[in-house]
Amino acid sequence: MYDIAAIRQEFPILSQEVYGKPLVYLDNAATTQKPRCVLEAIERAYTSANANVHRGVHYLSQIATEHHEAARRRVADFVGAPSAEGLIFTRGTTEAINLVAYCVGERYIQPGDEILVSTMEHHANIVPWQLMCARRGAELRVVPLTPEGELDMEAYRALLSERTRLVALAHVSNVLGTVNPVAECVRLAHEAGALVLLDGAQAVAHTSVDVAALGADFYAFSAHKVYGPTGIGALYGRPELLDELPPYMGGGEMIERVSWERTTYNVLPFKFEAGTPDYVGSTAFAAALDFVTALGLDEIAAHEEELLHYATERLRAEFDDSYILGTAREKGGILSFGIGQIHPFDLGTLLDRLGIAIRTGHHCAEPLLRSMGHEAVARASFALYNTREEVDRFFEALHRVVPMLR
Ligand code: PMP
Repeated sequence: MYDIAAIRQEFPILSQEVYGKPLVYLDNAATTQKPRCVLEAIERAYTSANANVHRGVHYLSQIATEHHEAARRRVADFVGAPSAEGLIFTRGTTEAINLVAYCVGERYIQPGDEILVSTMEHHANIVPWQLMCARRGAELRVVPLTPEGELDMEAYRALLSERTRLVALAHVSNVLGTVNPVAECVRLAHEAGALVLLDGAQAVAHTSVDVAALGADFYAFSAHKVYGPTGIGALYGRPELLDELPPYMGGGEMIERVSWERTTYNVLPFKFEAGTPDYVGSTAFAAALDFVTALGLDEIAAHEEELLHYATERLRAEFDDSYILGTAREKGGILSFGIGQIHPFDLGTLLDRLGIAIRTGHHCAEPLLRSMGHEAVARASFALYNTREEVDRFFEALHRVVPMLR
């Protein structure tokens, strides 16, 4: 049974007040709060297993290495990676995408080649490709969306050609909530001979991911969006492909031998992990994945979907001039909206004084917002610990502040 009261007990931060009001945290697409097991994993690592990994013969170093490599297997397993050698720890989704853009660019991209992204991408899945295209003389092409905020699949098919070297797509949009038909997108891209990177930042906390079944060449995600710590994330890449790529950053860990004449590189995944890894973050990341797995991703998704549905219906019914960005058939727990001419910043600021944390702005997706005729939008995003009562408090607060802003 989904025992929401017991679940909330596991998140100490949720019981605090802000401005004397109970906190209603609806900014989960930006980052999620952390359960006790994650906080305890961090403390445990520093109090009983802290030593630099991979290099030490002494006891603590070996324990730390064991924990770090067990965490790698856990993270790989969570996204259905066939082996852990394709699982590279990064600082997050952003670094993972930059790694692929740099290394694939160096190895495979020639002038005249094309990279395909969609209009709904986060800046993290746009700018690395712009940098790569500028470096390599390639061209960035953009798949448009339908008015509902779904990928225009006809346009996608038409844009794929023998010039397309790589397709980079969000699995779930951080603004629209749209769940993209990524398996179909991968299949079509592969038919055209292109590689595919999926940005899973918004997907991993809400749907079970199976990179092998999806057939993705690369899959990027961040721990902090799935109840894990900040500062760590992962890139899954097909090992045979990663083997072909040049290294990203140079330094310790990523080498086999170093000499003035010739330096050779370590095996996967270490070739892409220069420097001391976040071995504390990795164990806390694994603890977060154990937590969501124990609750069940299907149960979490059903819970969030119910909250999204409830909030969407109330917004439509109670605010005549409200609008929603993203009405895809399949949506994650994200509600981007506006009310009349009210500026989202004003709305967010007044809601905050009533304890309601939502996000306002361009949500790192300026091209998307502009394509929909907006500069900024308000966004409420739901997580496994949010309740129907919190949605009620959110609407109570909206009814208080909206008349003040009209
Ligand atoms: N892609 C998407 C869809 C996101 O929502 C985010 C985070 N807002 C990112 C990429 C970047 O993730 P991070 O900042 O953890 O690297």
